[in-house]
Amino acid sequence: MPDSRPDQPNESTERNPGAAIDAALFQQCVHCGLCTSACPTYTELGDENDGPRGRIYLMQLVSEGRLELTPTVRRHIDLCLDCRSCETACPSGVKYGRLVEPFRLAVEQSDDGWLKRLDWFRQVFLLRVFPYRKRLRTALAPVRFAQRMGIFGTAERLGLLRLIPGRIGQMIGLLPPPVKSGPRLPEFLPAVGRRRARVAMFLGCVADVLFRHTHWATARVLQQNGCDVVVPGGQGCCGAIHFHCGDGDGARRMADVNLAAFDLDDVDAIVVNHAGCGAMMKEYGLHWNDAQQAARERFAAKVKDIHQLLDELGPVPPSGRIEAVAAYHDACHLTHAQKVREAPRRLLSMIPGLELRDLPESEICCGSAGTYNLDQPAMADRLARRKVENIRRSGAQMVLAANAGCLLQIGRAVRRHLPGVTVMHPIDLLDLSYRNEQPG
Ligand code: SF4
Ligand code: SF4
Repeated sequence: MPDSRPDQPNESTERNPGAAIDAALFQQCVHCGLCTSACPTYTELGDENDGPRGRIYLMQLVSEGRLELTPTVRRHIDLCLDCRSCETACPSGVKYGRLVEPFRLAVEQSDDGWLKRLDWFRQVFLLRVFPYRKRLRTALAPVRFAQRMGIFGTAERLGLLRLIPGRIGQMIGLLPPPVKSGPRLPEFLPAVGRRRARVAMFLGCVADVLFRHTHWATARVLQQNGCDVVVPGGQGCCGAIHFHCGDGDGARRMADVNLAAFDLDDVDAIVVNHAGCGAMMKEYGLHWNDAQQAARERFAAKVKDIHQLLDELGPVPPSGRIEAVAAYHDACHLTHAQKVREAPRRLLSMIPGLELRDLPESEICCGSAGTYNLDQPAMADRLARRKVENIRRSGAQMVLAANAGCLLQIGRAVRRHLPGVTVMHPIDLLDLSYRNEQPG
């Protein structure tokens, strides 16, 4: 049988992006609409075509050749965050991500020379700079210099950053203030006390450049919990950036670099601390179909989110008091894609002195969604403002989120609209408690 998956376009995918989707997946949707109120874009716009039921219907009609893929139809699909909140809400078990992701990949690949249609920002920054740590560090060096000189902070306070046009301005505005991040993680860090597990850490690209301090915190927390930590060299980006840009082959190459870098027989788990990378890697077995398939499925089965791993291991309680009021934001790729919801809350509730408050609409996307905030800035800003209002209502002085994109998106929104509120990764806070230190 010919393989109709989108990274191997054939005649039918070139005619119709829906040909990349198993038609049975559409049939699972009974059009009940119970997912609609969970959809961020429907909640903001109130248009059925900007909700999951409407989008499923549109994709199905296009797939069946009953509807042209017009710019209007495409706009409704493009506006989807792929946050998968609808999957959590759906009582029929519809795997929305398995519909929209291949549909989008096939749309990108269905025309000859699809890469040419990508704009320069995607071609240069998203595909050739972001996924590579050294290149990204170099590209950000001038901005980091301006931040250290205080120019950046002043420009941000005066609103001047918003004058930088387009996605370059969006991107620069997202950058958090620099923090002490430490050197590259060594290849091995031993367990503290009795060894309970041996794990490999995944570093990623943007996460290692902007949140290396969280990698160090993760390694220390793992050590405190009796884990030998290995950090394989040669690992790279998880492939999510390429995947979100519609470059399925590029994403597959990234996945295969990681397959070669990690020795699965040597470790009990591959630990990931950012939700987007974790979700991508847990789904390595779903996106392609070639000779590496079995190896990808085996790799994916070893991937664990850091909160999930600690929760399963039985965490060692930290003892340092942190007197603060915090709220936990559910990153979409953790709560909806990986179904990891309670483990982070259970871990945070172990911190003595910490008051963990409910964040209204915690599971509604903040607007980050991979590269969505660069591609769809208007909707991303609306969702960020919505998140800020919910943080304000919670009364929290600290927001915790386990994903690089959320930390950047909520961080920027809070700097603009709710100064004084700290945004950090849950594992950073847990690490402070283990070390008996206070948030800075
Ligand atoms: S995706 Fe699920 S909840 Fe939404 S309309 Fe279809 S069956 Fe109903
Ligand atoms: S993935 Fe998110 S934005 Fe897209 S239809 Fe589902 S709930 Fe709405």
